[in-house]
Amino acid sequence: MTTVGTARRLVTELPGPRSKELHARRDRAVARGVSSVLPAYVDHAADGLLHDVDGNTLIDLGSGIAVTNVGAAAPAVTGAVREQAGRFTHSCFMVSPYEPYVAVCEELAALTPGDYEKRSALFNSGAEAVENAVKIARHATGRTAVVAFDHAYHGRSNLTMALTAKNMPYKQGFGPFAPEVYRAPMSYPFRDPAGLTGGQAARRALDHVEAQVGAGNVAAVLVEPIQGEGGFVVPAPGFLPELARWCAEHGALLVADEVQTGFCRTGSWFACEHEGVAPDLVATAKGIAGGLPLSAVTGRAEIMDAVHPGGLGGTYGGNPIACAAALASIGIMRERDLAGAARRIERLVRPRLTGLLERHPQVGDVRGRGAMLAVELVRPGTTEPDAELTRRIAAACHARGVLVLTAGTYGNVLRFLPPLVISEPVLAEGFDVVEEAFAEGCA
Ligand SMILES: *Cc1c(COP(=O)(O)O)cnc(C)c1O
Repeated sequence: MTTVGTARRLVTELPGPRSKELHARRDRAVARGVSSVLPAYVDHAADGLLHDVDGNTLIDLGSGIAVTNVGAAAPAVTGAVREQAGRFTHSCFMVSPYEPYVAVCEELAALTPGDYEKRSALFNSGAEAVENAVKIARHATGRTAVVAFDHAYHGRSNLTMALTAKNMPYKQGFGPFAPEVYRAPMSYPFRDPAGLTGGQAARRALDHVEAQVGAGNVAAVLVEPIQGEGGFVVPAPGFLPELARWCAEHGALLVADEVQTGFCRTGSWFACEHEGVAPDLVATAKGIAGGLPLSAVTGRAEIMDAVHPGGLGGTYGGNPIACAAALASIGIMRERDLAGAARRIERLVRPRLTGLLERHPQVGDVRGRGAMLAVELVRPGTTEPDAELTRRIAAACHARGVLVLTAGTYGNVLRFLPPLVISEPVLAEGFDVVEEAFAEGCA
């Protein structure tokens, strides 16, 4: 079997025989709790293409979950990694510091929203950044309550599981969860009453907080400016600014989880910028370092510096190789204007998704920003989620060599996160396949 698009090359079924062998080994060695979307084992990858161990070439519309914004093997990143690894791999910044850590914090101060003085601390994963943002917010405010939203995803550690909304698969059986986390309704235009404005949706959430938590107890309101795992839910305009205004009024901190939305993904450096919001603290990770594990909390200097020396850190946080990769990635984003590239991707992809909405009554909503776009699938004429159809369409894309991801509290969202450096022909071929999969799945 050989399918040749210009970019895709399928020489076996997916997964192929070598991938299947690896998978059998994996089943004997790797815990079942760690799963994979498409078990075609990767040999090498670049520019929106994944080359597997059987010689197949797949189109990547997932970027390893919004990580490889600059591509999976950008020469500037791999060169910086090699160069830094040759100098030293680790010293622990808390023991013997080094310049790349400082330089990443300088970049974060310059790039994140808000033109006040900032400080940053570096960590390894998104969950760790969110946890530390909560630690800092509690310390700086002397309060304990944290408000998180319906459909939120913040990670898999104990505190971030508590902050995450969805039970399966993230929380089931893993409790008890950290206390002092309160959930409020999100602005979800597709599912909210028609005409509910962002300001009204914020009021609905804040009424809830004032009645059930008490404004004076809130350390932090934690929000993804566009929800990621929750299904690329874009809050109605005005929602984020009203949360920011309320936080300022009541002495709570607005913490933006930009782990998935950050680093040019939505067509600007950070998604809060689309709403003109400068959060008190920002958590970043995923796209920051071209695939190396790195995360950060960045925020107002007086808040960040409220924590005593030694109160923040971790053995590997801000690893020098990851910092070198981040500096190279940020350089690429700046030089190649990847925020502009994300806006160009939206101009190419959104009309195709709108076309799906017009042709197929199962497509209830098209949403997102920049290169973070999704469709929500429902039973025709209703808002009832159709997770089964979503799975079938994703599987049809995978069988044809196009890697797409699903998302959503109800598992009924197909989301698209192409690398920002993907070429237009590869992107177009990817969405030709998505359209075929819909035509087949929705027939
Ligand atoms: C992925 C993600 C996290 C968790 O990041 P990890 O690096 O997987 O710990 C937190 N918040 C958001 C919005 C994410 O998308």
